[in-house]
Amino acid sequence: MRIDIITIFPGMFAPVLNESMVKRAQEKNKVRIKIHDLREFTKDKHNKVDDRPFGGGSGMVLSCQPIFDAVKKIKSHVTGHRSHFAKSQGRKVPGIDGAKVILLCPQGKTFNQAMAKKLSKEKHLIFICGHYEGVDERVRKLIVDEEISAGDYVLTGGELPAMVVVDAIVRLIPGVLGDKNSLNFESFEGNLLEYPQYTRPQNFRGNAVPEVLLCGDHRKIASWRKAEALKRTKTRRPDLLTAKKQRRQ
Ligand code: SAM
Repeated sequence: MRIDIITIFPGMFAPVLNESMVKRAQEKNKVRIKIHDLREFTKDKHNKVDDRPFGGGSGMVLSCQPIFDAVKKIKSHVTGHRSHFAKSQGRKVPGIDGAKVILLCPQGKTFNQAMAKKLSKEKHLIFICGHYEGVDERVRKLIVDEEISAGDYVLTGGELPAMVVVDAIVRLIPGVLGDKNSLNFESFEGNLLEYPQYTRPQNFRGNAVPEVLLCGDHRKIASWRKAEALKRTKTRRPDLLTAKKQRRQ
């Protein structure tokens, strides 16, 4: 997978994307992530990427031109590489519109595990991080394929949501996690929260690990875990169970 992120704060990404699982995924060539400084695409001599809103009001709005040019350049660059490779293999070149353009935005669809799963199957994602009062509406109208929100609150910029979304997607790319079973038993899989987990010591300050986890009978353990996952989901997130039921009907 290839991921491009367009931002006016490129320096925010390195500490997060160059650590842990996302770093390992890049090292294993499972994903290529490139950060683009929006200011490098402006035609304004003062490197301005924003302007005052028409009709008045507070704050500034990110202008169309740098964002359109950034997306165009990323798409043509990637297609150019593919074109070269495909031609050398005697194959047809995938269209310039192969990439999915995502705007991080509080008005978008609230991000969840199902969306992460779907996006992890894409070949190329381009994220646009807004700032200030947001982006010119024509960006949304003309080049954005999907709008994603991190939740019902307003952040200063789209950088943190982009990192959250990228992390959630990358760990789902086949071959990124060492033990792929860990994905099967995770929260939200099958609309359930995960069962409680324990590690050593067996007894911590008078709190013992449930006996069943020590019995060595894998069927008994699996059935205890399933029951606990259901109990936990019922008390903490009953909405997940309702959604599951509705999906079956
Ligand atoms: N004026 C906008 C509004 O009321 O909808 C909010 C702009 S916000 C201060 C600036 C940028 O931060 C947005 O363009 C978006 O990219 C990002 N952002 C803020 N909250 C977000 C959220 N919950 N999810 C995703 N992106 C968010």
